[in-house]
Amino acid sequence: MAEKDYYKILGVEKNATADEIKQAYRRLAKQYHPDVYSGRPEEERKRAEEKFKEINHAYEILSDPAKRENYDRFGSESGSQAGAGFSGFSSAFDFDDIISSIFSGFGGMGGSARSRRGNAPQRGQDILVGITLTFEEAAFGCEKTVSVKRVENCPYCHGTGAKSESSYKTCPTCGGTGQISQSQRTPFGHFSTVTTCSTCKGTGKVISEVCPKCGGKARREQVRDIKINIPAGIDTDQRINYSGEGHAGINGGENGNLIVQIKLKPHNLFTRRGSDLHITIPITMVDAALGCTISVPTMTKPTELDIPAGTQSGAQFKIKDKGLKVVNKNLYGDLIVKILVEVPKTLTREQKEMLKKLQASFETKQFAKLKEYKDNL
Ligand SMILES: [Zn+2]
Ligand SMILES: [Zn+2]
Repeated sequence: MAEKDYYKILGVEKNATADEIKQAYRRLAKQYHPDVYSGRPEEERKRAEEKFKEINHAYEILSDPAKRENYDRFGSESGSQAGAGFSGFSSAFDFDDIISSIFSGFGGMGGSARSRRGNAPQRGQDILVGITLTFEEAAFGCEKTVSVKRVENCPYCHGTGAKSESSYKTCPTCGGTGQISQSQRTPFGHFSTVTTCSTCKGTGKVISEVCPKCGGKARREQVRDIKINIPAGIDTDQRINYSGEGHAGINGGENGNLIVQIKLKPHNLFTRRGSDLHITIPITMVDAALGCTISVPTMTKPTELDIPAGTQSGAQFKIKDKGLKVVNKNLYGDLIVKILVEVPKTLTREQKEMLKKLQASFETKQFAKLKEYKDNL
């Protein structure tokens, strides 16, 4: 869903104060209120209604300091996902079963049910970071450090912003009820709506003495270096989930998760498909015709492979268990060797003579494919 520019909707600057936002909202809400449009043509009325909803939604976000901070940081109410380039990964939810069984809590992204009530505990947002590994690092596993900028609760006040548990007083806006009653006149009659008090977010209390350490801010941004263990065999687009290492929760809600998305640098010789390693090895046309033994590199030490006489270009040989480790299992993939028969591009006069002699000595039946083709002509 495309996010709209809430500042633009309210016609205020990005650095507008809470008062300026409130004023702009009141002015626009009055202008587009359904009452004003009653009796107008339906099309006009609907447009105004849409606009009215938009204004209200924009105000809901920008009038709430936590939501506004979030929106400013991530350009989205729903947080880190958009900001961290989450939408750029098409296979975002293509979790590998094996990985998710090792690292619990993978479902964190979708599980952040947001409460409408301001004082309800809210789970912190997840942080997605990408990390690029060499082919070898992924093959054998390694330890990495990622630098993460995250919102943490002030350790002194535990994210409340208050000096102590007794640093609260009754909310002057709602008189301690936590709710505001509003009477609204609509084309269908008078309606009384009860909304949560925005000053105290429904708690009925406001802070009288702010935390001396954070000045009442309660939360602050910190850069943390977090050690992550990369398991052997991990592959591109797989994710490692670190529970509770994301942004701090609000009102005692649990922390979000840190999700590390893996990307591998290509290898000079190998490509991988799952845990299988693939390599293409060229041999001469003579070796292909006569058969030979070749040395095949692996992720550790080279191994030997017998190539039978008469091997065709494109033939594949499987070397069992010489592929990559399967994550968290004592299992290995295979090494698949694809043979490329190479024909020399230049020949000496002598070699040409020898090949012509050789050609003359061949019988049609020695070339099964060529024979089949000719028979089909
Ligand atoms: Zn504090
Ligand atoms: Zn209140």
